[in-house]
Order: sequence, then C-alpha cells, then structure tokens
Amino acid sequence: MSAIRKIVIANRGEIAVRIIKSAKRLSIKTVSIYSDLDRASPHVLMADEAFHLPGKTATETYLDMHQIVKIAKKANADAIHPGYGFLSENAAFANLVESNGLKFIGPSAKSIKIMGNKIAAKEAVSKFQVPLVPGDDKAIEEITKGIEIAEQIGFPILIKAAAGGGGKGMRVVNKIEDFNNSFKRAVSEAKSAFGDGSVFIEKYIEDPKHIEVQILADNHGNIIHLFERECSIQRRHQKVMEEAPSPTVNESLREALGKAAIDVAKSCQYTGAGTVEFIMDTRSNFYFLEMNTRLQVEHPVTEFITGIDLVEQQIKIAEGHSLQLEQANLTFSGHAIELRVYAEDAQNNFLPSPGKLVTYSIPTVDGIRVDDGVLEGSEISVFYDPMISKLIAYGKSRKEAIEKLLEGIEAYVIEGVQTTLPFGKFVLKHPSFIDGSFNTHFVEDHYLPTIKNEFNQEISLAGKVAAYLYNQNLKKVVLPNN
Ligand code: ADP
Ligand code: ADP
Ligand code: MG
Repeated sequence: MSAIRKIVIANRGEIAVRIIKSAKRLSIKTVSIYSDLDRASPHVLMADEAFHLPGKTATETYLDMHQIVKIAKKANADAIHPGYGFLSENAAFANLVESNGLKFIGPSAKSIKIMGNKIAAKEAVSKFQVPLVPGDDKAIEEITKGIEIAEQIGFPILIKAAAGGGGKGMRVVNKIEDFNNSFKRAVSEAKSAFGDGSVFIEKYIEDPKHIEVQILADNHGNIIHLFERECSIQRRHQKVMEEAPSPTVNESLREALGKAAIDVAKSCQYTGAGTVEFIMDTRSNFYFLEMNTRLQVEHPVTEFITGIDLVEQQIKIAEGHSLQLEQANLTFSGHAIELRVYAEDAQNNFLPSPGKLVTYSIPTVDGIRVDDGVLEGSEISVFYDPMISKLIAYGKSRKEAIEKLLEGIEAYVIEGVQTTLPFGKFVLKHPSFIDGSFNTHFVEDHYLPTIKNEFNQEISLAGKVAAYLYNQNLKKVVLPNN
C-alpha cells in the first residue's frame, strides 16, 4: 500500500476538472497538462501545477505519452490519471507509466488489451457463459466468408471494427446485395480510424436498449457492481443522454446484469472502475457488447444515486486499498439523468458547431450538477471532442429528475455556438421518453421526423409568403391601370 500524493491528469476539459475536484478533496496535489489552445482553461487554472505541451492537435499534445511521463517524473508525481478518451484505453501507455515507477490509475495493461479488442473480449467472456450477441466472433478476412456468415446469422447484420470505439467503425447491412460494398468500406474505415482493419459480424438487434453496468474491482479479488445505466438516447451510435437506474430494469434483471458484468470483469482480471456494456432486445434478453476499461463519461448519474465518488474509488484502488463496499449492503435511491451538452447543431444532423462561448452561464438549481471545463470566452475548437459540459439532475423519482433537468436546461445560457440543450428538452418532453419505451432509434424515430416536419412547414410557409408577395406585386402592377 502506498499513498498517492501527486497526480498528473493526462486529459483536458470537464473530465480533467472532475478529477482535480476529487483529488483536492483527498488532499492530493494535481498537475495538469495543456495544449496551445488550452492555456487559460479551468483545468490549468485549478491544478497546483501545469505543464505546456506545444501544439494544437491531440497527437502533438494529449496523446504524446513520452512527454506526459517525462512531465510526471519532473513534477515528482506518483500517479497518472488518464480520464476517458485520449490515452485512457492504451495498453502501451499503461505499461510505460508503470515501467517508469508511476501508478496508472486504471486497470492493468493486460486487461486493457483484452477488452480493447472486441474479438479478444468476446473470446475471454465466452468462458464465463456471459451471453454474446449472436454472430461470428472472429475477424473476417474474405468477403465470401463474410457473406456466408451473414446469411447464417440472417440480415440485418452489423459489421463492426474489432478496435472500434466512440460509436465509430460500425456498418448496418440490411440485405445481401449491400454486403460487398459495406464490407470494403468498413475495413477501410477501421484501418484509417483505428490502424487495424479487422472487422467481425454481429446480428443487428432490432429496437434495442443500451444498458450498462458500473463495476469496481480492487487488487484483492473483490468485485462489486454499482447497478445499471440506461444510455439509449444516442446519435451516430454514441450517447447523448443517460440515466440511472434504467426505467425498464426490474430487480431480477438488475441482479442478472450485475452478475454478468462481474463475470466480464473476472474474465480479464479487471481492477479499478470499469463499465460493461450490454445491448438488450425487446424481450429483455441482454447480450455483452464491450467493456470500457476507464471512467465513463456518464459516471455522474451513478454517483448521484449511490452517493459514491467514483474517482475517489479509483484512487483508493490504485493505492492498493481493499474495497470498503460490499455488494449486499449497497443500495441506491432516487433517479439521475444526464444530458451531454455538445457544441452541435442537433437540427442539422448533430454537426459540430465550433466557436467562442460568447455568453456562458450555468444553472444554480438545487439537485443540478454541472461538470464543465470551460469559461465564458472559451473556444470550442475542432481539434478536440465538441462536448462543452454535462448537465446532470437528481430527483427522488424519475418524474422529479425529468422536471429538474428541464429546469436546468432553461436556466443554462450558452451563446455563440449551437448546443444539444434544445434537443435535451425535446427528449424530456417526449411521451416515449417519459413512459420509458424508447430505444436506440429515438433520434431517427421521433426527433428527425419532427425536425423534417418543422422544415417542411417552414418551406410551405415560405411558399405561401412568396405567393402572397407575388400576388401583391401583380396587384401593384395592375393597380396603376385601375
Ligand atoms: P462513453 O463510452 O464513456 O459513454 P464515448 O463513447 O462518448 O463515452 O467516448 C468517450 C470519449 O472517448 C470520446 O471522446 C470518444 O471519441 C473517445 N473514444 C472512445 N473509444 C475510443 C477509441 N477506441 N478510440 C479513440 N477514441 C475513443
Ligand atoms: P463503441 O465501442 O463504438 O461504443 P459498441 O459496441 O459499444 O461500440 O456499440 C455502440 C452502439 O452501437 C450501441 O450502444 C448500440 O446503439 C449500437 N450497437 C452496437 N452493437 C449493436 C447490435 N449488435 N445491434 C444493434 N445495435 C448495436
Ligand atoms: Mg460502447
């Protein structure tokens, strides 16, 4: 057991700020790193020390593992927290950190490696009887073999990149005629995005829900789960709103999900905080999707309902402490919902909307938590993730949490960029969200048609105005002669 006294945070934005907050509470010193663009960011201002990494791109800065380790040694730190994204799921980085005598606040390089590849992950968990999405869990090298497998599974199918993440590297194929084209594109996309062209085929589960389980594991063989999160409100296969608990998971299902998640953790000798993701069909059959070997973006909803600080738990585990929590004594209460506030134009295909936050004022409402890493005047650049912040609401019931989040959205003022705040309002007021029947197709099924309708109405209104003006002009032309 050795206490951590100083942590380097190998990240930026809201998650860097989030980690600094817990470290401060634990009287641990913090060291930030920053790119040219992030000089005046809150994560730099809040840390005890900050080191500049010249450059703008992620590769030049937050992904430069050798520079980051050098900084940690120079600052005399004893641990590195990778946050999420960037180097958080990079086994080589975890190895480099440890081989330099520093603690990596996360699982071992070996666990990261197994779970970082979706094919390797399925192979590991299959030994523990964890239900897998029907499919073929090997890399597909030839198109003819792929077609054979797709026909066996039955269309629609999903071609997935083994190394994929962040919703990227996935292609739905509805019919055999489309297979060739989709396969070729999937392989080339996987190669360019992840440097690894291996793909595999899964049955495309229709109208599914994304349900995931938070787990914590120490270095002494204790593993617990902190219940589920419902993350079905997505665009481009990536989450925008998440909640805990799930409105469709009952006690027995919760127990089964929890057990499966713990088995997944066992299958890779997991330590630290991690998330096991499942896809659930309309009859509540759930299948393992992947494990994210890091702190998850949406971890605050779990913190709200359990009262447990997940960053603190990560640090304690890295220090070598045993978990002080026991499954049998764990409970949750109330309901929490998170909206990821992205600088995106939801009405225009959720396209990034970079720019300056000309006005930025956060809500100060009881039961509302804002995790952000920006200030008024900050720039949301094209170089990094377009997430501005996370708006999280807690209520005694789901209804109360919905009302609270709506209140938070109303009181949040962001000008200068388009945001997902109006989209959040749309979701919270939609009957299928309110009754819990929504699935991962919410955006296509409910949001896009409304936008289209509004657009058509605008067009038809524009048409009427044009016709009116035209007629007025005609009258004008006619009038002088009258
Ligand atoms: P979560 O899985 O925590 O809900 P996301 O899917 O939104 O979150 O991913 C969190 C961040 O990590 C995003 O910035 C995303 O682009 C990045 N990310 C996730 N997986 C990968 C990966 N395999 N390669 C590169 N970036 C990734
Ligand atoms: P990533 O590593 O990019 O997060 P995941 O495997 O976790 O990839 O899948 C991301 C999302 O894609 C899921 O939340 C879900 O919406 C959709 N998805 C993935 N696999 C399937 C499947 N077999 N059937 C239907 N939807 C899926
Ligand atoms: Mg995922």
